[in-house]
Amino acid sequence: MMPSFIPPDVLLLGPGPSPVPPNVRAALARPTIGHLDPRFIGMMDEIKELLRFAFETRNALTLPISAPGSAGMEAAFVNLVEPGDTVVVCRNGVFGGRMRENVVRAGATAVMVDDAFGTPIDIGKVESALKANPGAKALAFVHAETSTGVVSDAQALCRLAREHEALAIVDAVTSLGGIPVRADAWGADAIYSGSQKCLSAPPGLSPVTFSERAVDAIRARRTQVQSWFLDLGLVMGYWQGSGARAYHHTAPINMLYALHEALLGLEAEGLEHAFARHLAHHERLRDGLAAIGLDLFVAEGARLPQLNAVRVPDGVDEAGVRRRLLEDFSIEIGAGLGELAGRIWRIGLMGAGSTEANVDRVVAALGECLRRKAA
Ligand SMILES: *Cc1c(COP(=O)(O)O)cnc(C)c1O
Repeated sequence: MMPSFIPPDVLLLGPGPSPVPPNVRAALARPTIGHLDPRFIGMMDEIKELLRFAFETRNALTLPISAPGSAGMEAAFVNLVEPGDTVVVCRNGVFGGRMRENVVRAGATAVMVDDAFGTPIDIGKVESALKANPGAKALAFVHAETSTGVVSDAQALCRLAREHEALAIVDAVTSLGGIPVRADAWGADAIYSGSQKCLSAPPGLSPVTFSERAVDAIRARRTQVQSWFLDLGLVMGYWQGSGARAYHHTAPINMLYALHEALLGLEAEGLEHAFARHLAHHERLRDGLAAIGLDLFVAEGARLPQLNAVRVPDGVDEAGVRRRLLEDFSIEIGAGLGELAGRIWRIGLMGAGSTEANVDRVVAALGECLRRKAA
């Protein structure tokens, strides 16, 4: 007989998933109950409340989509964008390119604002694109580009969207819980995230929040949302209302226990404390890497504390080092994506992974790999 699968213990310091703390793992193992059981529905309401805390919003339409971050992305686009619309899409990494795919597949026109991988979104170029495309339905951008380790100015971009009466669609998959995501203060209209990055739950859920303006835009649609599963009008019937909840799909019950537990942890720590912790460990990593002769790829001021892109020195076997880290040190880090493949490593210090001990462990292991190579 085939044995049960027992995964090895690996320290997850890549671009996600991040380490899942023991209390969150324990939550996953609790008894599965019915997804329409009033006690389960009570927990769903608490999750919505905890997500409003995490997103810093009062938006009523705040919930986790039952699928990974990519589904939150898709939910934002299929609900807000209709055939014939124009959307200004910022692309300074791989995930901006995926936003474009979503716009095009929704039958709309994507006006691209491209910036080099490794640099933040150029606000002036976005303003020009919005001016050149009056009536654009939305401005879409990635707040924390996980493919490059770059943060862009979400507040300024949301303000530009407001000024041009476009909806602001924000990818906060890697930002939520690691750096400030201030939905209401920014005036963002649709923000989606993921459970497995700075929230440190397993992958499989995508927290989203939609503003009143976004809800009005969904109500005013001329056409039906082409995705049945992600049609928020239907999803809301399940997640909202104090009375009877309409069956839409079976919620991933145990995953929701895990998200609830992870969000309780974030609430107990406090957002500002969590942000300060991510920043402090990023700085410790930067200094540790410098001491073993490694540089960060992104310029100071544009760096994400939770995702550190590290230049691979000339002559070093990028994939070989990652393999040694995994096999000899049980540490996973990420490779470069797209045009950065082979040129960078990506070290994630996300959520529960962002600790002093983890920084010291990965720096020591990387140093050892590089010394062996040189020997
Ligand atoms: C990880 C990630 C996604 C996709 O999330 P999945 O959970 O892998 O589907 C989207 N955008 C960004 C910026 C990400 O880092």
